[in-house]
Amino acid sequence: MEKHTTADRSNDKSLIKTPYKKIAVVVLDIYLDKTLDYGIKDEHISFAAPGMRISAPIRGKLQTGYILEIKDHSPFDNLQAINSFQSEQIYLTQELFELALWMSRYYASPLSLIFKTILPSVIASKTTFKQQLFVIRKKTKDEIIEYCLLNREKSPIQVAILEEMLKVKKGILLTELLEKAKSSRSSVDALVKKGLLEVDIVRIDRSPLINEEYFKTKPKVLNSQQAEALQKINVSLEKKEFAVHLLYGITGSGKTEVYLQAIEKALKSNLRVIMLVPEIALTSQTIERFKSRFDDYISILHHRLSDGERFDEWHKILNSDAKIVIGARSAIFSPIKDLGLIIVDEEHESSYKQSESMPCYHARDIAVMRGKLSQCAVILGSATPSLESYHHALSGKYILSKLSARAEKSQLPKVTIVDMAKEREKQGYTNYSQTLLDGIKTRLEKGEKTILFLNRRGYHTTLFCPTCQEGINCKHCDTTLTFHFHDQKLSCHLCGYTIIPPKVCPKCHNETMKYKGVGTEQIERSLHAIFPEVRTLRMDADTTRHKGSHQKILKDFGTGKADVLIGTQMIAKGLHFPDVTLVGVLNTDTQLNIPDFKASETVFQIITQVAGRAGRGILSGEVIIQTFLPENNVLQLAAKQDFEGFFEEEIEIRRLFSYSPFTNLVKIAFVGDDEKKTLENATNFHDNLKKQLTEHYLLLPVLPAGHAKVKDQYRFQFFLKGKSIYEINHAINEVKKKLKIPCKILVDINPLSTYF
Ligand code: ADP
Ligand code: ZN
Repeated sequence: MEKHTTADRSNDKSLIKTPYKKIAVVVLDIYLDKTLDYGIKDEHISFAAPGMRISAPIRGKLQTGYILEIKDHSPFDNLQAINSFQSEQIYLTQELFELALWMSRYYASPLSLIFKTILPSVIASKTTFKQQLFVIRKKTKDEIIEYCLLNREKSPIQVAILEEMLKVKKGILLTELLEKAKSSRSSVDALVKKGLLEVDIVRIDRSPLINEEYFKTKPKVLNSQQAEALQKINVSLEKKEFAVHLLYGITGSGKTEVYLQAIEKALKSNLRVIMLVPEIALTSQTIERFKSRFDDYISILHHRLSDGERFDEWHKILNSDAKIVIGARSAIFSPIKDLGLIIVDEEHESSYKQSESMPCYHARDIAVMRGKLSQCAVILGSATPSLESYHHALSGKYILSKLSARAEKSQLPKVTIVDMAKEREKQGYTNYSQTLLDGIKTRLEKGEKTILFLNRRGYHTTLFCPTCQEGINCKHCDTTLTFHFHDQKLSCHLCGYTIIPPKVCPKCHNETMKYKGVGTEQIERSLHAIFPEVRTLRMDADTTRHKGSHQKILKDFGTGKADVLIGTQMIAKGLHFPDVTLVGVLNTDTQLNIPDFKASETVFQIITQVAGRAGRGILSGEVIIQTFLPENNVLQLAAKQDFEGFFEEEIEIRRLFSYSPFTNLVKIAFVGDDEKKTLENATNFHDNLKKQLTEHYLLLPVLPAGHAKVKDQYRFQFFLKGKSIYEINHAINEVKKKLKIPCKILVDINPLSTYF
């Protein structure tokens, strides 16, 4: 485990006198599992504080890092001193420090890595506020006019500049002035010297949405279930005490309205708010609802912010200019002060989990921990809570509130399951059942809208050889290539590798290659073949590559530019289009078949969420689920939107096979260029770990990961189960220290999948 009190060169020497009055305990930005002591020079003593960014010498070089703590003595002699301070800004508040210490222990990651996660890299780097030069008049207009008259012949360029300056009210950006007057900086400088103009440095705000205006909306009168939920939350807010509220409310039941009124209450008590939403829900629809309710500055953090925008937003939060922060996963690390409320919307969402790099944290768990450290209220909201959260709510650890009816008098949609095997008997190969086609046709006639969901992008999911039964795989990854009609190429969804589809089988040279598997692109094209008049929009990773494209698709759909929206799970979340009356779920069978303990939960959630897009207005909605597994229990329960029924069945399976929430699961993955060596490393680690842990821990064997090779990197992993994360991590760290394994190791605490 990481030491974070003092460097461990020797602990027996007691308090040696150093030439420094104060000593800083420092965590450098490099991968080093200990802290170091440095002296603070006299000139820095007056302002040095924990949380500041510094640079300090190590092995003859300067390295940046943070001050963790300041103390009077160090057990070490001949300390080196901190070289410089990045600024006098405290980058990590006390509370974030405590959170970081906990994360380091819980997620088995060195503090330097945790700090990198907590602080956006643009803040830790040398970026500064955007500054621009602004030119203003130093003399009255009359004086300037007079100067122009006298100097028109002699210095026409200076006069041109002054004439531009007469047109502006307060002043003008230097760059703009030079462009307008077609002149150079030296002419402006000459006028500054003569005392006619002045050039000032101004700070430019790069915040997104700063110029947008929103219609104001008023709080709605809550129904009794909403009022009850809010009242319980208000109790926590008033007492300023830590409590986790699970707001379990069906889609469209008015959870967001409860959040809005809870935020209002927090703001009235001068408390600040963090609200997490899945990245994909950070659309104008969500933002608009919040901006139109509050006058206070709301900071929106999403991954498409430019570095400059991120820098400005972060400082606004730190300086308490922002009262509400809305953002995806990493917004939980916002340096907001006086935190009173944390909301995690769609708390079951997998995008809250970081899985591909350490620390493999879950933002929902961090939210609960941060709430505890700040003594504030936490709301977890969902129509399909994670089994973990619902279990905690039933056991009394969380406070449960239910919203069981739709808020706007609309009914939950009627759901039909269609057996695709029977459809194929009737009409041969088809993507669409007759029921779904009839449904779409009726909607087209009535001018209502349809959403079609399919969790595969591309045209065909595989190109394969019927003779040797082999699919065309990626050269760099253990996965088949997907055919994309638009570029007429096969592409790898893991690494982006593309090739022109081969006409003959590369293995057996057979000349009749076959395509199979359906993606969103094919669904769109085949729909046009059936309904030539239909107007469609498609939303998946291919159509949303560019900044703003996601927003544009939703806007076009909302304003009636299409009849049918086709998409991957991107369309499942939070969309509110009252005139969508039909949702078609085209195929979730492959997902159901993944050998993974969370597969059922994921499919249940996704169907319930997609189905929830239907009939959100006064018109009633209908959902059609197409499947080859019509008897499947998960589909049946999802069709009935019976979360509680699903929970009861699934929680028993979890209990029986000992999965979360009944035990902790840890995945340790080994990633390396050499297949054999990576496997050896994994096995070696596994065997050593076994010796470290008592028999209370179950260690499963080393296996290749679900994708055994990604980007030419081989991947082996094993799982272990047991009660105490801290004990497991301690053992892992001991083995890490002892073996110094030369490949990348990823420790994932409670991973979202036992397969990938
Ligand atoms: P959820 O977040 O649970 O999906 P929303 O908060 O989006 O639900 O609510 C669905 C719709 O119902 C929205 O249009 C919202 O404005 C409306 N709504 C919510 N609460 C009320 C209420 N108490 N009275 C009237 N309309 C409401
Ligand atoms: Zn690949």
